[in-house]
Amino acid sequence: PSSSRSGSPSPATDGARSPFDLHGRCAVVTGAGRGIGRAVALGLAQAGADVVLLGRPGAQDATRDAVQELGRSVDVVDLDVSDHDAVERVAAELAAERQVDVLVNNAGIIDREDSVDVDRASWERVLDVNLTGMFLLCQALGRPMVERGHGKIVSIASLLSFQGGVRVVSYAASKHGVAGVTKALANEWGPHGVQVNAIAPGYISTDNTTALREDPDRSRSILERIPAGRWGSADDIAGAAVFLSSSAADYVNGHVLAVDGGWMAR
Ligand code: NDP
Repeated sequence: PSSSRSGSPSPATDGARSPFDLHGRCAVVTGAGRGIGRAVALGLAQAGADVVLLGRPGAQDATRDAVQELGRSVDVVDLDVSDHDAVERVAAELAAERQVDVLVNNAGIIDREDSVDVDRASWERVLDVNLTGMFLLCQALGRPMVERGHGKIVSIASLLSFQGGVRVVSYAASKHGVAGVTKALANEWGPHGVQVNAIAPGYISTDNTTALREDPDRSRSILERIPAGRWGSADDIAGAAVFLSSSAADYVNGHVLAVDGGWMAR
């Protein structure tokens, strides 16, 4: 690395500090009340970050308490990410009152339905949460990162950022969109010291996948294809999120990292 040539250690190689250390950083996580978002918020806090939880009223309270028990500072801000005016207002207020170092776009919904039956309202509902809300948050919180010359954005994409799936057309469209936004912003903001990446979780045990896990045939055929031989846990995703939020990932940009027990290798 150029910093080694100049003799001054980069944050990733400074022996005094772990490259995964997030002390002194402020991380914003959307949809952190349960599932992957909760595990990511706790993982970031364990790594030392102060966190801001953005989500629907009341939904983040248990996560807030758990972060407080870790001794980190935590704020909860009510936000429905499908309310795009509110997203712009809340993000602008946040950016004005504090330095946000890390944004994790996690909030997401899925609609399992035959493509011929998907009506415009359900199409828009999924795109509004998973893609437009995600982009507007990147824009509002990424702007000051670009001005400052550093920051990390990590979005929770999906295996359906690479594949089409069956009966999930709006979700696949939205998650391909998340990958596209990630790569486009990485190109534009990389020169300004901002890394924009995504995580593509495989099959993770959360409320999102309860129906799949409760269907014995689907569950068996999914499990047979996972080289790890098990469903993933939300904590499996938290580690990748800490990595991509930290200076250990300063040279990772525009990447969609599959965390899937090997699913994509099959
Ligand atoms: P959950 O259904 O357990 O959690 C979804 C989270 O998103 C909840 O905290 C929910 O909040 C929040 N959310 C949904 N809509 C909104 C909204 N309009 N505004 C604010 N928050 C909202 O799912 P997961 O934890 O599994 O999913 C998290 C992310 O991971 C999603 O983006 C999902 O697509 C992605 N993912 C999950 C996979 C899996 O196998 N589980 C696989 C691949 C990707 P509330 O509690 O208020 O509903």
